[in-house]
Amino acid sequence: MQDNEISIIIPVYNESNNIPVLYKRLKETLSAITEHYEILFINDGSKDNSMQIIHQLSEGDHRVIYIGFSRNFGHQVAVSAGLEHCNANCTVIIDADLQDPPELISELYAKYKKGYDVVYAKREKREGETFLKKITAKLYYRLLKKIVSFEIPLDAGDFRLVSRKVVKAINRMPEQNKFLRGQIAWLGFKQSYVMYNRESRQHGKSGYSYSKMFRLAFDGITGFSDKPLLFVSRLGFIISIFSFLLIIFAIFSHFVLKQTITGWTSLIISASFIGGIQLLSIGVIGEYISRINVNVKNRPLYIVDSTNIDAFKK
Ligand code: UDP
Ligand code: MG
Repeated sequence: MQDNEISIIIPVYNESNNIPVLYKRLKETLSAITEHYEILFINDGSKDNSMQIIHQLSEGDHRVIYIGFSRNFGHQVAVSAGLEHCNANCTVIIDADLQDPPELISELYAKYKKGYDVVYAKREKREGETFLKKITAKLYYRLLKKIVSFEIPLDAGDFRLVSRKVVKAINRMPEQNKFLRGQIAWLGFKQSYVMYNRESRQHGKSGYSYSKMFRLAFDGITGFSDKPLLFVSRLGFIISIFSFLLIIFAIFSHFVLKQTITGWTSLIISASFIGGIQLLSIGVIGEYISRINVNVKNRPLYIVDSTNIDAFKK
């Protein structure tokens, strides 16, 4: 059997209303490029009937393959599972909610044909998203860029095309806390991008709660930078010096100036200030330690409930 030219990876969480349209638009775009393609749905424990719809599609089209998780493991894990089981010269990661237009795949593919290993889709505009989400995302990626030691693209999500070389390299990265856009940037290779307008979601609502978003944001920082740890240790150092100077001043004032410094306010303020800094620092260290803990346990990233991929059946 000839290898596929393109594989499409689609993480799915409660997207029953979007899947049929997505499938149709994908088919139109892909058949204009090649007939050797596969569409890989990863059902991330959807609570609606997404799984049934995917199953029906796969019955009518041998190019549709799927992995159904036993529960919700998260978007990054779903995409990682897709990357482990896709089989093609190049692979496109795309959201199921039609925020990423399938038609853009032909532009991504054209760039890939020019010799790029990673072609990501850069958001020119983001429609239908809250002001808070846009501003926090903007600030976050700018902060991340400052604290990591490699080039990370701004305003790009996971919608991108990667070559087989990149897929193989990603599959060798062992971390349990996935932050794929960072991992792909870390790899290097020849990277390029195309611009697009990110539309609003067609049906349903975002599967990214604030807690999921926070976790992803922290995974991005802790996975690629030690700067927060350096920052808290420096902060501790600076505050220690400052308080040491205060002690000297207090002694000097008491014995030489004969003026004892008194006061409840200064006491409480400094105690709560130090308390706050200590909790913050322990929290930062905790974020790193909890990730060490997860990685030491080394559990499987996800559990499969149903699939039509042969590799699982052995
Ligand atoms: N998704 C997933 N698991 C989750 C949350 C989301 O597989 O726990 C999928 C979702 O179906 C979509 C993609 O990941 O295809 C992006 O999610 P979403 O649109 O909810 O995120 P947003 O666009 O709001 O950042
Ligand atoms: Mg979305």
